[in-house]
Amino acid sequence: MKKLAIITLLLSCMGQAVAGISIKMNEPQSPEEQQAKQSIERSGINQALIDLSEQYFPFESDLTIEYGAEDGPLYDPSEQSILIPYAFYLESVDYFAENRDEEESGASAESGAIDTMLHTLLHEVGHAYVVEREIAILGKEEDVVDNFAAIILLNYVENGDDVSISAADMFAFESQSEENSEYYELGEYAGEHSFDLQRYFATLCLVFGSDPDKHKHLLDEVEEDFITDRREHCIDSFETVNNNWHQYLTSAE
Ligand SMILES: [Zn+2]
Repeated sequence: MKKLAIITLLLSCMGQAVAGISIKMNEPQSPEEQQAKQSIERSGINQALIDLSEQYFPFESDLTIEYGAEDGPLYDPSEQSILIPYAFYLESVDYFAENRDEEESGASAESGAIDTMLHTLLHEVGHAYVVEREIAILGKEEDVVDNFAAIILLNYVENGDDVSISAADMFAFESQSEENSEYYELGEYAGEHSFDLQRYFATLCLVFGSDPDKHKHLLDEVEEDFITDRREHCIDSFETVNNNWHQYLTSAE
């Protein structure tokens, strides 16, 4: 085993193809994009993602994460790549700067944007992993991979509950933005994603369910008539989703 690990290390040092996740950072097109690139690199989320993948959701095929893409965030199955524009990070920073009080939350807008990026990376990698493992999808795939992101964060990332809550907040900010004021047009109901506010509550629900004592106030904004039911549902839901996703995750040996 040890020998194999060393060979793998050597191969990766030599820059030769080893299956799994690789990162491509495209040339920034503006000083803002340059800043985005630096923040993403400095944050360590790319290495964290690679380490998580090796340990819990390994890929036999290659998967490239391309930052600085024009489209995205999205997973492109034909290229086995995940595309992330630098603008996505920059917009997230703006959302957090406008909507979350830095002093009150104790976290900077940049850290909120990095949390959102890690959740988004896991969501997109989740799409790729569903293909890799030929996982049967019996509902909305978008919800399935949101759950994947939350389960990985809550089990295997330090402060993953805070990261998940930031990502949930971002869904709430997006749902309140002016751009989305036409939210309830008929066509929106035909979309593949759940509404941002549903994604917000679904993510908080899993965070609550993962540790109800620690997060006892997390669902407080739910109306009194529903909250007891919701709390019970979220505890059950976390257990179900957590157990079922673990049928497809490898555990550390
Ligand atoms: Zn998706």
